[in-house]
Amino acid sequence: MKGLNKRNLIYKSLNAFTAPFKSYNAGRLRVLAYHTVVNTEIFESQLQFLRKNYNIIDLAYLESHLFNGKELPENAILLTFDDGDYSVLEFGMPLLKKYGIPSVLFIITDLIETNKSFWWNRAYTFYKNSRFSDEQIGKKISELKDLPNNMRIEELDKMPEVFTRQLTVRDLKELESSGMVICNHTHTHPILNKCSKGDVKLEVSRAMDMLESWGFQHNQIFAYPNGNFNSRAEKILKHKGISTAFLFDHKINVENINPMRISRIRVDSDTEIDEFQVKVSGLHPFLFNKFLK
Ligand SMILES: [Zn+2]
Repeated sequence: MKGLNKRNLIYKSLNAFTAPFKSYNAGRLRVLAYHTVVNTEIFESQLQFLRKNYNIIDLAYLESHLFNGKELPENAILLTFDDGDYSVLEFGMPLLKKYGIPSVLFIITDLIETNKSFWWNRAYTFYKNSRFSDEQIGKKISELKDLPNNMRIEELDKMPEVFTRQLTVRDLKELESSGMVICNHTHTHPILNKCSKGDVKLEVSRAMDMLESWGFQHNQIFAYPNGNFNSRAEKILKHKGISTAFLFDHKINVENINPMRISRIRVDSDTEIDEFQVKVSGLHPFLFNKFLK
């Protein structure tokens, strides 16, 4: 609890500088990258804050900006969610709907209509049961992410399966009708810079095909799994017809956005509002990338 208060205090003091930083960067797009929605109370206060202080745009607006030069409003912001965690439907959607906030959901197509777990959850459970500390587990999962793709899969195959409630196509349709655009986050969420060329091609095109077969129109909008970008993967994505790709680099965007390299700021549904304000303004991303990385 003591650590948490200290953290809050730091962000409270940093908050004095967010207003000038925000207005200096008013012309630059912010894209937020969420994963789960675990704290509805804080998440709701974040949405209220965004509604009041930013101009929330939808994906169609961003696309018109990128490809037809439509001007962005001041302090434009887009909300995105990665992986398709069930909590986004259960806890996120009712609040997004309440405030009329559009967003983008990047799904892992192999998991839809199954009870398979995210691969990192399988690893987490295995190491937890092997009595590793959370810190050690974090390290172990980072090591898995660093392995060549086939070796990562071999390691995971040795671990017992775990099960997770995943979204169905029907759930996705419900999310879509509530203002969420369903997009591409590969078929199985591998780390693309650890994949062979063939694997990258397969991962992207399988996800595109499945999204299309379920009737989702935006299979060409993509987010890099774990944010791992490289130019070789980018070339393959372009060749496969991906038009727009999002990173996970904790940055606000430059004025002239490259549609294949859209920066995103990392936030969570339980990010306390002072910290959230500092992050969304771009101040935390600026400091983080300059001094803390
Ligand atoms: Zn992801």
